[in-house]
Amino acid sequence: MAARFIQKIVNTTPAASRGYASSGKKVTLIPGDGIGPEISAAVQKIFTAASVPIEWEAVDVTPVRGPDGRFGIPQAAIDSVNTNKIGLKGPLMTPVGKGHRSLNLALRKEFNLYANVRPCRSLEGYKTLYDNVDVVTIRENTEGEYSGIEHEIIDGVVQSIKLITEEASKRVAEYAFQYAKNNNRKKVTVVHKANIMRMSDGLFLRCVRDMAQKFPEIQFEERYLDTVCLNMVQNPAKYDVLVMPNLYGDILSDMCAGLVGGLGLTPSGNMGLNGALFESVHGTAPDIAGKDLANPTALLLSAVMMLRHMELNSHADKIERAAFETIKEGKYLTGDLGGRAKCSEFTNEICAKL
Ligand code: NAD
Repeated sequence: MAARFIQKIVNTTPAASRGYASSGKKVTLIPGDGIGPEISAAVQKIFTAASVPIEWEAVDVTPVRGPDGRFGIPQAAIDSVNTNKIGLKGPLMTPVGKGHRSLNLALRKEFNLYANVRPCRSLEGYKTLYDNVDVVTIRENTEGEYSGIEHEIIDGVVQSIKLITEEASKRVAEYAFQYAKNNNRKKVTVVHKANIMRMSDGLFLRCVRDMAQKFPEIQFEERYLDTVCLNMVQNPAKYDVLVMPNLYGDILSDMCAGLVGGLGLTPSGNMGLNGALFESVHGTAPDIAGKDLANPTALLLSAVMMLRHMELNSHADKIERAAFETIKEGKYLTGDLGGRAKCSEFTNEICAKL
């Protein structure tokens, strides 16, 4: 199996002209809640051991009350991402049903992070149901059911609006095909339910279909979400790059994560017009927070994606190799991978292999 796991994300502009490649480039760090600070510290330790030429700028995103009385991201954090244009983010807790709205959503909207890219590939030496999973889900990241347009019509009846626009659908479609082309991928599958949501998913589907015409070298297919779920657990090799509206991407990408060993392993990148924010797919894992039990791999591999985006490829390759060797060896696996090692022991082992 190819050693290279996280592939290069679409870069249309050279890293140098985006200001990334210069040494000492500042990267915004949002350590996050729950296990976030532990796994962020692990990534920082590994980056230091690998002499990665970046400088972290840690910011606090504890919600603050704005002039309109609503809670949101502190201005200092927004300014940091706006200036640095690149960041690494730990998981953030979202209160259920009350309290502040999702900061994850707020960040995606604030920085127009329109495409969420989640590569999922079987890891050599780590046994799962299949050893041939190699899919990339590309999720529209700004609208759909996550638009936050909800209201009560009468007592006991609420409505949530699924918003789909041509603009957002086209740009994520273009991103998916460009990603496939840049990464020598063969096929793009659009995942939808346009048979039921004829207008909203219908518009999304049309936009992807139109974009497919511009990339004749990439094979294109259309599949219903339920069919993809069935096939993904029976024969994941059927798929390559998948592009879909927001909610489907949220769910399907976790399913893909389950096929390769769980949430502790899967990274992601939120790609925007003016910047990019990389984060693990998992949440704050409150059940194991503060116990030195978390697996830092997902955040580390997200940071590796980030390094490739910054064209710091040799550092990315070195860190990725050390992490994969540690997992393949199996002596220092964290609990989620069936081992007994602490987060700190796993981290030290990666550092020792650099
Ligand atoms: P979760 O991902 O936090 O946890 C699910 C299970 O996976 C738990 O058993 C947890 O221990 C385990 N797990 C997750 N990450 C792990 C890791 N790195 N190492 C070892 N085990 C790991 O999902 P949840 O419990 O549904 O959500 C908890 C909180 O996280 C919620 O407030 C939710 O809103 C938030 N969340 C945030 C993000 C994000 O910031 N992007 C994503 C998902 C959930």
